[in-house]
Amino acid sequence: MRYQVLGCFGGEVPGYRLSSFLLDETLLIDTGSVTAALEIASQARIDHVLLTHSHLDHSRGLAHLADNVFGLRTAPVGVYSIEPVLDGLKASLLNNILWPDFTEIGDAHGPVLTFQSLPEDRPTILGPFTITPVRVHHTVACVGYLLERDARVLLHIGDTGPTEQVWQVARQAGNLKAVVVETSFPSRLQGLAEGSGHLTPHTLGGELAKLGRDVPVFVYHLKPQFAPEIRQEIRDRFGSRVRILEQGATYEF
Ligand SMILES: [Zn+2]
Ligand SMILES: [Zn+2]
Repeated sequence: MRYQVLGCFGGEVPGYRLSSFLLDETLLIDTGSVTAALEIASQARIDHVLLTHSHLDHSRGLAHLADNVFGLRTAPVGVYSIEPVLDGLKASLLNNILWPDFTEIGDAHGPVLTFQSLPEDRPTILGPFTITPVRVHHTVACVGYLLERDARVLLHIGDTGPTEQVWQVARQAGNLKAVVVETSFPSRLQGLAEGSGHLTPHTLGGELAKLGRDVPVFVYHLKPQFAPEIRQEIRDRFGSRVRILEQGATYEF
């Protein structure tokens, strides 16, 4: 799987884009920076959008993506997550107040967006991908996604503090090529991280122990104002065991 990092930070300032990841040019995980990072033609090629949760730094690009691809596609863009995430977006983002409801706006080919809820812990087939959402521990409903294509598996985890179930899935997943997980704050801000449902290098260490297997681990969602400090701390604590996702880079998993 070709995994393009459009943006991978937990905040937005010049040079630091919000979380958004493109798989094989057609499946998008979170939308934070999709419209800032991709040309229109590439935006129009996205068939499936997976959302980890409703927070704006992951969801807001959906509003602009819908606007941009209107009239350019011959089929709706499928938007997927667990039910509480989609319900939250319908109520609070695409509610005809903050933004038009693009599941109701369309042309002869149908609406711009369709929403489809995914069963938790069960695989769903989307084109060439098989995806399984697994709950993690954040301040709102949030999931990680186990993504499989051609017997190669990637685990992309949304915003989370210390959690359990997703690591159980990771321990058992065959042919797991990589795990992508957040680290938002330096360990000296542990209280802030716990209150906001995020990890620090300190708690990441505990999560890696739960993973308990030697697969490549990449971290993302660094808060820009602490990014140099978090990078240094990750290097000091984990050496080459943990890598930091690079914005603009493409990984083959
Ligand atoms: Zn976030
Ligand atoms: Zn969040």
